[in-house]
Amino acid sequence: MAERAYFDWNATAPLRQAAREAMQAAFSLVGNPSSVHAEGRAARNLIEHAREHVGLLVGARPAEVTFTASGTEANALALSPAIETGVEKKPRGRLFISAIEHPSVHAGGRFPREAIGYLPVDADGRVKLGALADALAHPSAAASRPLVSIMLANNETGVIQPVAEAAAIVHAAGGLLHVDAVQAAGRIACDIGALGADLMTLSAHKIGGLKGVGALVRKSEDIHFAEPLIRGGGQERGLRAGTENVAGIAAFGAAALAARGQLACEGAHMLALRSLLEEGLRAITPQAVIFGAAAARLPNTTLFALPGMKAETAVIAFDLEGVAVSSGAACSSGKVQPSHVLAAMEVSPPLTRAAVRVSLGWTTTKADIERFLNAWRKLASALSKGHGIAA
Ligand code: PLP
Repeated sequence: MAERAYFDWNATAPLRQAAREAMQAAFSLVGNPSSVHAEGRAARNLIEHAREHVGLLVGARPAEVTFTASGTEANALALSPAIETGVEKKPRGRLFISAIEHPSVHAGGRFPREAIGYLPVDADGRVKLGALADALAHPSAAASRPLVSIMLANNETGVIQPVAEAAAIVHAAGGLLHVDAVQAAGRIACDIGALGADLMTLSAHKIGGLKGVGALVRKSEDIHFAEPLIRGGGQERGLRAGTENVAGIAAFGAAALAARGQLACEGAHMLALRSLLEEGLRAITPQAVIFGAAAARLPNTTLFALPGMKAETAVIAFDLEGVAVSSGAACSSGKVQPSHVLAAMEVSPPLTRAAVRVSLGWTTTKADIERFLNAWRKLASALSKGHGIAA
């Protein structure tokens, strides 16, 4: 049996072999991609090749892909009042975001606090489309050329959001839709056109690339940012200055190519194992709550709680059994904060404090699931005896 079982794929995924090879090949190039000589052009070629594959993962053309230094940075770039479409140049006055967004969207990018509106979700963690329509119908919103940001799948629950339906509402109100697809990419189909998104965020390390690389994808080149995120040497068509992370971008392209090719079989693999995990979890502890279970979810994510349990203690107990899981959003691990996602779903604070996230991926095995369930059997038995992981 492997030494450890890794169930924290929503925090980060292992590097894919193809990405490792692309990165290693890039290491032997010396050129700066902005240089005109052969060395520079070789580095530029790697970037443009990667741009093509990252675009293909979401049905976009290469020119519509802007590389950034993370998904967080792509979100910061997207959430700008200065997004122009065609000849329309008036700044956008309002930003509406769902209440369950990742902190990098929750922060509102370059919009002032008072311009941001939050959209509620239902008990299964799906954004309420009626609330979106009402918010956009308000005369002040309608006149503001609003930007709306709704994630494709939530990082804590895995719940898939009704993005295509939201896009129709946003466009009818004259707005633009940004979709954070960081958790969805490589796990479910993410075609920017089919979803009706105008902007889409991706992160390399969730699909088997390196940490510290991301992309913002535009639906068309007609969408234009009047304000760059970082000024300087004009890289990434002036949107994001700074010499590109050539090896990281090359690895991102290779990971995107592999993720696109493997999407159907990896999705089926993850779903089969996740079903096994949830069946086992329910058999051991019928009183366990699986959040968002009634909604469509990513095939790899289970967020669950056992009343009376304390999540941080459970995570440590799992760790001692060789099983890596997380409590709440792992992006902020180290900081123990109540989940704003579960709060938005109106989950009670004690149950929120018990929530443990188990997320798996393409290298997860049946033996890993068995290891998780064995550890859970031990923990649940300790809890039922009133010690170990109680709140
Ligand atoms: N958006 C979502 C939904 C995420 O889950 C994360 C990270 O977990 C991010 C954005 C940030 O991506 P990055 O880690 O590349 O900054």
